[in-house]
Order: sequence, then structure tokens, then C-alpha cells
Amino acid sequence: MPTQPLASGPHGPDALRPLLDTVLDALAEGRKARGGPLPAGGPEATARQVADALGDVLPDEGDPDGLRALVRLLAEGAADPADPLCAGHLHCPPLAVATAADLAVSALNPSLDSWDQAPGATALEAVVTQALARAAGLADALVTTGGTESNQLALLLAREAGHGSVQLVCGAAAHHSLARAAWLLGLPDPVLVPAPGGTLDPAALDAALTALPGPLLVAATAGTTDAGLIDPLPEIAALCAAHGARLHIDAAYGGGLLFSDRHRAKLAGLDAAHTVTLDLHKLGWQPVAAGLLAVADPAELAVLHHRADYLNADDDTEAGHPDLLGRSLRTTRRPDILKAAVTLRTLGRRGLGALVDQVCDLAREFAALVEAHPGFELYDTPVISTVLFRPAEATDAAVADARRELLHEGRAVLGRARLDGRLWLKATLLNPRTRPDDLAHLLKLVEGSTPR
Ligand SMILES: *Cc1c(COP(=O)(O)O)cnc(C)c1O
Repeated sequence: MPTQPLASGPHGPDALRPLLDTVLDALAEGRKARGGPLPAGGPEATARQVADALGDVLPDEGDPDGLRALVRLLAEGAADPADPLCAGHLHCPPLAVATAADLAVSALNPSLDSWDQAPGATALEAVVTQALARAAGLADALVTTGGTESNQLALLLAREAGHGSVQLVCGAAAHHSLARAAWLLGLPDPVLVPAPGGTLDPAALDAALTALPGPLLVAATAGTTDAGLIDPLPEIAALCAAHGARLHIDAAYGGGLLFSDRHRAKLAGLDAAHTVTLDLHKLGWQPVAAGLLAVADPAELAVLHHRADYLNADDDTEAGHPDLLGRSLRTTRRPDILKAAVTLRTLGRRGLGALVDQVCDLAREFAALVEAHPGFELYDTPVISTVLFRPAEATDAAVADARRELLHEGRAVLGRARLDGRLWLKATLLNPRTRPDDLAHLLKLVEGSTPR
């Protein structure tokens, strides 16, 4: 067995170059074999195909063809967000330049738990997180694995600001991770405020904040997962100020609107929050993971301070080594900020804003197609890039069957959302390369799979 080359060091680039060719060829082969947005046949067929191709997971002797074989297998079994008919979730097609930057992270493998494992990455993260936080009107940001971890940290900071307790109050359409974070942190179940039409009702919030004993944390949503709706942020911020409640805004989806001159105003009020969840692996075209938690008052992060002598000894910190343990609850941590920094630099605010504008335009076009079609019903005009629709007069069961049929045939990926007591199909348009023809094709596929 020849010695295995390393990814970095003097021979790293020469070792990686042919392997990258192998990976790129295998991606293309796998995509071709799949032939659509996802593999046909459903979970059993895919599991069988994977098991058959894998064979012995840990063979006694190595297989030099393993890279090609398994990358091809993954690609063949992928739901590819770069396919225009893959529009089910907040699952974006990553930009090539961001993915290439992520390769550099894998090659160098810096770890952001101590400065001596990541000198440059530490400095880069400090500057870029501050710039992104300021773009949202806040002061600093922690890097997270996504909206779920950001929401958890927001709740933790609120609990500590409340000296060990806080009552979470959120709209009925808030993300599930908030309730889960309350459970994880030993906090009471959230008080759910009605969200008629999908957004938090300010009058109901006022009543809840009047009735509840503090300390209180209101979590508003800028871009609901189901419908892409934005809670009335300025009104909510005013109510929080009047009642002395903390405000967290979950902008995991809508945060990307900050890059767009046309759509930024929809986020008015964001800068009134104590904490804001941002997620660049949604409306930011980053490979997973690319979450942030922006904070208005960096001094609040002091509660995350933690000492481990092998990582942040007092004398190292006094000598000027940045103390990284207080910037995450994780220890070993990738510099996920590199791909975001590369993206910001390469595309600029205008380039990113143009991508945001494109997917918002696509959603309006798709909504117009649905509205013009007598066989379909549109939930509402899209606010971001989510379109909810359903075949007119179909039962909920027929809507659910139509979606599953498209998945099982490998023809389209659509999401589902229950709103107004009915089941809707959800198209989350995050692919700026999608063409009007693709949207018409998507609607035709749904039409063809709905029983009359
Ligand atoms: C996606 C989403 C989250 C969770 O983010 P992950 O990156 O999946 O952890 C939280 N809040 C909202 C509103 C979301 O849409």
C-alpha cells in the first residue's frame, strides 16, 4: 500500500489536484445516473442501492477506487438543490466559489478553539463577524452551525440576562428549534401567541406581555419556515420596549434580504433586537454550515466565558492571545467564516443582492402562474421566495399523495405546510438559475400527479 498523501504541506496541492479531478468526474457521473432532482424509487430503493454499492464498509484491504465510487454514489442519491425542480426546503444550491473556499478549510484544517491552531482564521473571523453583525444593525456575531444553534444561544443569553430564568414568548409560526432550545435549557414551555395569516399578532402579543411575569423573551421571525412571512418587527420591538421584554429575531431565512436594496426595507426593526439569528446556508448560497448569532451588546457574551488551561490559559490571554472558548459552546470548530468572507468579497453586496432579487422575482412569477391557472389555488403573494399553493378542490390527503408521488418518481422536490387548517404544497425558490420554463414545468408536474 503506497503512503497516503496529506492535504496540506508541501505536497498537498499536488496530491489534491488529481483527486479533485476524480471527485468532479464522479459528481458528473452520479448526477447523470440520477437524471433528475432526486433519485427515483423512494427510500427503500435508495437504501438498497447504497448498501449494494458500499459492500463491506471496513474491508481488510483498502480500495483505491473508493473516492470515485462513494462520491458517485452520494451524487446519484442526492436531492440536488441546483436542479430547478428541487424546491422543497430552505436548502440552497451553494456557490462554486464558496464551495472552493470550503475546500481550503478542509485542506488546512484550522480549529477555532485556540489561537495557536488558527492564527489567521481567528483574525479573519473577528473582522468578518463584526462586519456582518453591523450589516444587520448589531455589534458582533458568533459563528454557529445554523439557525438551530443560533436560537439556542439566543435563549441561553436571555436566560443568563434574566439571572437563570426567562419565559419565551413567540408566534405560533416560530421555528421548532426555539421550543426545543427552551426544553434543552430547562426553561418553561414557550407561550405561543396567535399568528392569524402566518405572522405574530401584535394585539395578542401585547395582551400576553401584560399578563405574564418577567423576565420575558419575545422571539419574532423574519422569514417563517412555512410561508416566508415576516412578523411586524417595528410594532413588536415597540411592544418589547414598552413591556421591558428582550427581543430575539429569528432571521435565519429573511436575513439575506439585507443584501438587497429592493428588499432590505422589509427588515426594518431588525436593529432593535438584542439578538438576531442569521443563516447564510439559506438566502446566502453557502454550503452548510454557515450560521451566525448577532448580538447588540457584546458584553453579554461574557457569560459564555470558560477556562480550559490547555486552550486559553490566563497568561496566554494576558499576553494577547485571543480567547476563543467564549465564542462558541463547541470546542474544535471549522472556520466556516472563510467561505462567507470569500463570497462577500467576490460578489460584493450588489452581487449577493442581485441573487436575492432573482429568487424573489422567481417566486412572484411562480405565484402569478399559479394564480392564472384555474386548477390551482395560491395561498398569498410571496414576501420572500416561498410560494404556497394547492390543487383547487383536492383533499389534504390528495395533496400529500401528490407530493410523495413526485418524490418517489424522482421528478420534483416540493415541501408541505399546514396553514389555515389546510395542507399546502410549498415551493421554496432559492436557485437563481431557475428559468420561467422550469416554473411552468414544475406546475405541470404537480398537475399531472394530482388525482382529479
Ligand atoms: C431553517 C430555520 C432555522 C434552523 O436553521 P438550521 O440552519 O436548519 O439549524 C431556524 N429558524 C428559521 C426561521 C428557519 O427557517
